[in-house]
Amino acid sequence: MAKTRKKQNRAAASKGKATMTNAMSIHKKKISNKDKTNSKKNKKTVNNVSVLAKNKNIKNIKNINKKRITRTINTSNTLQNNTTEKQLQITNNNKSKKRRASKNKVKLTQVNNSNDNSVKKVQKLKKTIDKKNKIVRKVNSVNQVVGSVNKNTIKIDKIPKINIERLKEMVATKEKDEKKISKKVKEVLPLRERMMTKLKASRFRFLNETLYKNSSTQSKKYFKEDPEAFTAYHEGYKYQVTQWPLNPLNVIIESIKNMPNNHVIADFGCGEALLASSVPQKVHSFDFISMNEKVQACDMAHTPLLANSVHVVVFCLSLMGTNLGDYIREANRVLKKDGMLKIAEIESRFDKIEDFIKSISEYGFVNTWKDLSQNLFYFLDFKKIKDITTSRNKFPEITLKSCVYKKR
Ligand code: SAH
Repeated sequence: MAKTRKKQNRAAASKGKATMTNAMSIHKKKISNKDKTNSKKNKKTVNNVSVLAKNKNIKNIKNINKKRITRTINTSNTLQNNTTEKQLQITNNNKSKKRRASKNKVKLTQVNNSNDNSVKKVQKLKKTIDKKNKIVRKVNSVNQVVGSVNKNTIKIDKIPKINIERLKEMVATKEKDEKKISKKVKEVLPLRERMMTKLKASRFRFLNETLYKNSSTQSKKYFKEDPEAFTAYHEGYKYQVTQWPLNPLNVIIESIKNMPNNHVIADFGCGEALLASSVPQKVHSFDFISMNEKVQACDMAHTPLLANSVHVVVFCLSLMGTNLGDYIREANRVLKKDGMLKIAEIESRFDKIEDFIKSISEYGFVNTWKDLSQNLFYFLDFKKIKDITTSRNKFPEITLKSCVYKKR
């Protein structure tokens, strides 16, 4: 019995063990399954998360790109709008300019037309008035004849009626028209004057250049053949002087006024001889053409002055031409020993002032004073220290740049 119970117990135990093992293995399996599922789940979740993240990123990127694109589109739209607006503005401006120009054209044509019309009207009126006057005269003479024959017996039927009031009206209209015409002529005149000023200015520039770029012999010939050109040149020169902060001639006039009254002065290239009429001393004035009784016409390279006869030689803006050396040689010839050579020139004509001073010195002079501080002009004084007798080609060439005046 006991054996059987033991066997039974053992069997039961082994069964229990087997059941336990089974249960455990089932449990284990379950766990591993669970793990698997979990890990799968996790994997899925991770995948989902990464997909989500990816999607989110893409979405973000897409959004950002969308925003950027929209912004770019907006900017380009604005730019396009601006450009179109500007184009419109430019077109409008051009249009209004064109409109203004054509308006002006129309105005001018109107003025011209109305001038023509008014002139025609006046001429017509004049004719009518003349006719009427003729008739009046005829009537008067007829009346006289009639009166002299028989005042009461003869009747003249066909005397045209003269409407005096109408005549008066016509005369008044004629006067009005004349006034209108003169007003319009005055309006048109400034344009004419402006054109003339421009023409004069360009002629002045041309003559100025002629003087700078030719030898004095050529310039003298040029002005001799066309003295009117000389007057035109001086008109232009006078205008030019008004544009400068100072007239250099005034500086020279002041310095000469301070010199002894018995000094003799020679003004080389004197223009209108303003120096001669502004100082108490005796002044010999030379220029190509004599513009008044004070000026002696000559090429200043060969003046009629005696050697060693003057105290001062002045070149005020007159060093023009390709043979400047000839003028300085002539100055040396006519100046007394220790005599003074005064030069005023436009600053922009000098390349290097020292070079200019050096070359003048080689013509028997020494530089005693200079003022380079004035706006636009250089002022230089030299003293004659010796006569120069050596031949012409032994001296250095003196060159200055041409002075180009601006267009008005
Ligand atoms: N010195 C005057 C005029 C200056 S304009 C003044 O300051 O108001 C320059 C003048 O020099 C012109 O009238 C020109 O005809 C004159 N000129 C230039 N070269 C000349 C020459 N070789 N002979 C005579 N006159 C000359």
